[in-house]
Amino acid sequence: MALIVQKYGGTSVGTVERIQHVAAKVAKEVAAGNQIVVTVSAMSGQTNKLIELATEIDEDLLPREYDVLVSTGEQVTIALLSMALNKIGCKAKSYTGSQIAIKTDSFFTKARIKSIDADRVQADLDDGNVIVVAGFQGVDDNGNITTLGRGGSDTTAVAMAAVLKAQECQIFTDVDGVYTTDPRIEPRARRLEQLTFEEMLEMASLGSKVLQIRAVEFAGKYSVPLRVLSSFEDGPGTLITYEDNIMERPKIAGIALNKDEAKLTILGVPDKPGVAHHILGPISEANMEVDMIVQNTGEDGTTDFTFTIHKNDYNKALDILLKTSERLGARKVSGDDRIVKLSLVGVGMRSHAGIANKMFASLAEEKINIRMISTSEIKISVVINERYAELAVRTLHEAFELENSTVA
Ligand code: ASP
Ligand code: MG
Repeated sequence: MALIVQKYGGTSVGTVERIQHVAAKVAKEVAAGNQIVVTVSAMSGQTNKLIELATEIDEDLLPREYDVLVSTGEQVTIALLSMALNKIGCKAKSYTGSQIAIKTDSFFTKARIKSIDADRVQADLDDGNVIVVAGFQGVDDNGNITTLGRGGSDTTAVAMAAVLKAQECQIFTDVDGVYTTDPRIEPRARRLEQLTFEEMLEMASLGSKVLQIRAVEFAGKYSVPLRVLSSFEDGPGTLITYEDNIMERPKIAGIALNKDEAKLTILGVPDKPGVAHHILGPISEANMEVDMIVQNTGEDGTTDFTFTIHKNDYNKALDILLKTSERLGARKVSGDDRIVKLSLVGVGMRSHAGIANKMFASLAEEKINIRMISTSEIKISVVINERYAELAVRTLHEAFELENSTVA
């Protein structure tokens, strides 16, 4: 007997038929002797609809009331799923976040979970019930309803799995796992059997949007094995777990493509202490997040400084940088918002020199110019012209033979 937490996303509970389909899947697990906690999202599109209604009243959403409103979507699906389970003879009870004391801080619209009352849930489970928990919501110390940020049901599921010490947290969605790269770009992309939390974080933050990033962080922190599966077809999905749990590692797990960044350069700034701070200070004060940063070796007392930011912030950042340039007496400011960032991700690259070189050689062979490079222990990122994005992904996928990456 195992305790498993399952989470079904909005499309998986988008209609009554689909909710009944989920109920049948859950009942099968119960019949196999497992204890099941299910977390569900609102029916697909429902959260957006609620937000639209609120916006009709006031564009400036009141955070506390926003949370009261959007948390209702999940209350609908927990009740319907619990009814569907009971209807087919599977004892089930639904709970809102506040009922099982999913305690959060008071940051409305993006609250963080602090604790959960596991005893009540465990007692109900031991009594032979399936527990259906509303995703995405909690309650603060003053009894206010809070929500966990868009996509937050993933985090509810992981948190439930952590406090209940579940064997696995299964995230059912409309894709059948995590792929080596975007299959729409490279049809030979393969589903990964396994990858580590660290790798998943890189893949997710770099644009493979399968799981809420916070949920992956949470799972890593509490060592909750996470599995991404399709709710529509059977299959093993992709297991995201800690490194020691993975037997055989390929060097590269996958290639992530990020189309959301733009780059800015300030040329000929004085090469002296405090310059990086003077350039990036006003950027961060304007609430813009900087990703890659490159500074050249100074020559003749000046240097060049390049960084990337989100594309949406490009014009604002350019304005700020022009002012900074005047202040510092820099030579010139330039920018490019037609770039993409491509990253090779894999914990296996730690112990393999030569991966970067192979990456650069493969791109050179296709005459793709690299504009920026950055590396970490488990990733190598390059910035290139957006025109070559798809070619670069396919080139690297082939060069590193990811189509036959047999993992595990
Ligand atoms: N219903 C919420 C949303 O649409 C939470 C979730 O689906 O995870 O963001
Ligand atoms: Mg989701």
